[in-house]
Amino acid sequence: MTILITNIKELVQVRDVPVRKVSGADMGILPTIKNAFLFIKNDVIEAYGKQDEMPNITADKVIDASGKIILPTWCDSHTHIVFAGNREQEFVDRIKGMSYEEIAKKGGGILNSAKKLQQTPENELYSQSAKRVEEVMRLGTGAIEIKSGYGLTKEAELKMLRVIKKLNENYPVTIKATFLGAHALPHDFKDNKSGYLDFVIHEILPTVAKEKLASFIDIFCETGYFSVADTEKLLASGTAYGLVPKIHVNQFTAIGGVQMGVKYKALSVDHLEEMRAEDIEALQNTGTMPVALPSCSFFLNIPYTPARKMIDSGLPLALATDYNPGSTPSGNMNFVVATACIKMRMTPEEAINAATINGAYAMGLEKTHGSISKGKKASFIITKEIPSYGFIPYSFGNHCIDKVFIDGHEI
Ligand SMILES: [Zn+2]
Repeated sequence: MTILITNIKELVQVRDVPVRKVSGADMGILPTIKNAFLFIKNDVIEAYGKQDEMPNITADKVIDASGKIILPTWCDSHTHIVFAGNREQEFVDRIKGMSYEEIAKKGGGILNSAKKLQQTPENELYSQSAKRVEEVMRLGTGAIEIKSGYGLTKEAELKMLRVIKKLNENYPVTIKATFLGAHALPHDFKDNKSGYLDFVIHEILPTVAKEKLASFIDIFCETGYFSVADTEKLLASGTAYGLVPKIHVNQFTAIGGVQMGVKYKALSVDHLEEMRAEDIEALQNTGTMPVALPSCSFFLNIPYTPARKMIDSGLPLALATDYNPGSTPSGNMNFVVATACIKMRMTPEEAINAATINGAYAMGLEKTHGSISKGKKASFIITKEIPSYGFIPYSFGNHCIDKVFIDGHEI
C-alpha cells in the first residue's frame, strides 16, 4: 500500500540526517519544509520534499493536505495506562483539602489501584486498558511506554505485563514495557520494605526477564517510598538481567536519585519537579534523558519541572503524560505540549522536540520514531487547517488533529 500526501502547508520535524535527541539551544530549532509532499510505502516513510520538486509518483491513495500541517506522532515515554477502575473519589478528597501523601497514608493512592487490579481478571484488565490505548492513538500518540506497578504481587505484576504485551501485539502503536514492581509497599510488607524489595528482585524480576516481559526497570525513588539505597539495589539487579533503568525521581523531594540513575546509565529520569543545581549538573553530558510530566503537576497542583533552567543549562528534555488513575488521569499529549509552553515557558519548537524525538529517545525508539526521516515508521499527525504549528499549544484544551497514521495505518 502506498500513500501520497500532497500540498502539505508545513511538514514539521524533518530530519534528513536523523538525530538521536536534541539538547539545550538545539531544542529551539524545529526543522520544517513549507509546501511539501510526503510519500509512504506500507509502514515506512519512503520520500518527502518540496511540493514543486516532487518527482512523478504513482500511489494507491492520494490525500490533499492543503492548509494542513503534518508532524510525527507523539512519543509518550511515561505512562501507567494499564489499570483497573479509577480513583475519582480521591480526586474529590483532594479538592476538599487532603494531600496526595495524606490520601496514600489512608490506604488510598497506589494501594487502592493495586487492590482493584489484583481483583480484576486479565481479560477485563485488557479491555479496560485497550480503550485507553485507542483513545490516545486518536489523540496522536504513535509510540508509548507502559509500566507495571499496580500489581504489587507476583501474579498481578505478571498479569499487567502480559496485558501490555498483548496490547503491543494487537495495536499498530509501538509499546515498550517497564517493570515497576517497586512502585509502593503492599499491605503484606507494610513494615518490611527490605523484604518486599528482595521479593521483587528474587521472586518477580527473574520471571519478567525470562519471559521477556519488559525492556525497562523502574522504581519510585522518593521520601516515604523507596530510598536511594533501595534504588541502587534494584537497579543493580535489574541491569544484571539486561533491563535498562528508567526511574521516578525528584517528584516531591530531591534526595540523590538523579545521581543514582545516572550512575546506572538510566535511559531516563522522570518527574523532576524538584531540581537542585547539583541534579542539573549530574545530568550534563550523560545519555540520561530528563522527562517532565506537566499534566501531573497540573492535576496535583505541584510545581512544574524547571524546564527553562534545565534547557538553558544545555540539557535535553522529553515530555510525557504519566497517564495513570491517581495523579494524571489523562493521556492527551496535545495538552502536555500546551501545558509545557504555558506553565514551563517552553517554546512550541522546544515542546514539539520534547514530545517527539526526545520522547522516542527516552524509549530507545529514536531510530524508528520521533521525526520525519526516510525509513522511519509512517506514524504522523495530519492537523486540521491551522495557521502554524504554534497553534497546537496555543489552542490548549483542544486538539488540532484531522487524521492520525500509525505504522502506515489510518486510525
Ligand atoms: Zn509515573
